Amino acid sequence: MLEVERLVAGYGTVPVLHEVSLTLKAGEIVGLLGANNAGKTTLINALSGMVTPSAGRILFDGEDVTHLSAKQRVEAGIVQVPEGRLVFPEMSVRENLLLGGINARARAQRPQQMDRVLDLFPRLQERLGQAAGTLSGGEQQMLAIGRGLMADAKLLMLDEPSLGLSPRFVQYIFAIVDRLHAEGLTILLVEQNLNLTLRHAGRCYVLERGHVAVEGTADVVKNDPRTRSAYLGL
Ligand code: ATP
Repeated sequence: MLEVERLVAGYGTVPVLHEVSLTLKAGEIVGLLGANNAGKTTLINALSGMVTPSAGRILFDGEDVTHLSAKQRVEAGIVQVPEGRLVFPEMSVRENLLLGGINARARAQRPQQMDRVLDLFPRLQERLGQAAGTLSGGEQQMLAIGRGLMADAKLLMLDEPSLGLSPRFVQYIFAIVDRLHAEGLTILLVEQNLNLTLRHAGRCYVLERGHVAVEGTADVVKNDPRTRSAYLGL
């Protein structure tokens, strides 16, 4: 479904990603791991069109999307749930969800998608009229994922969904991730939390200073000594 070939990207003249290659098959859940500043967010920003690569290619469902705008990529089904949730705090939960489904492909299905999201997150149902800024961190993460689903995502990219959440909410959010995967959604899970990701992702990539240091099944990644050194920056 997704093929990233030797992607180079950064900010201004400062390169961050150095020829990163990665693949995701339809229905897979793949973890993207790495320490602080390894380049994880830069990579998913490049996939969602927020950062422009200077070399390499991104193929999605066989189409070259490297030069599509962020909006066009959402239309294609590549949807990012950003780090820190970034919900619109003054708007209600309902308005935030409806905005997620504003692209042309998703618009016609908004009522059905809304039912699906509220079935997945009953807590959001209870808070539909409430301003998003008044939700707890865990509830905002539910809203951010719900907003991504409203866009009718084919590939859902979750950036650090566990960040700042209590263990109870982390468990809840990851149970939702497992459920979405079981329903057939393709998921790229960006996380700093190594053990958590290894438990939920079938395959993982470990980024170290903008390079892929290790890749393989969760078991392979877990047992590769380079995984720990990537984290410790040795
Ligand atoms: P974290 O887990 O802390 O979010 P990360 O693996 O997602 O880390 P990135 O956020 O992709 O890492 O950052 C990679 C490098 O790019 C870092 O050196 C960072 O300082 C730099 N960087 C990130 N965003 C910008 C930006 N907007 N402008 C300039 N440099 C940036």
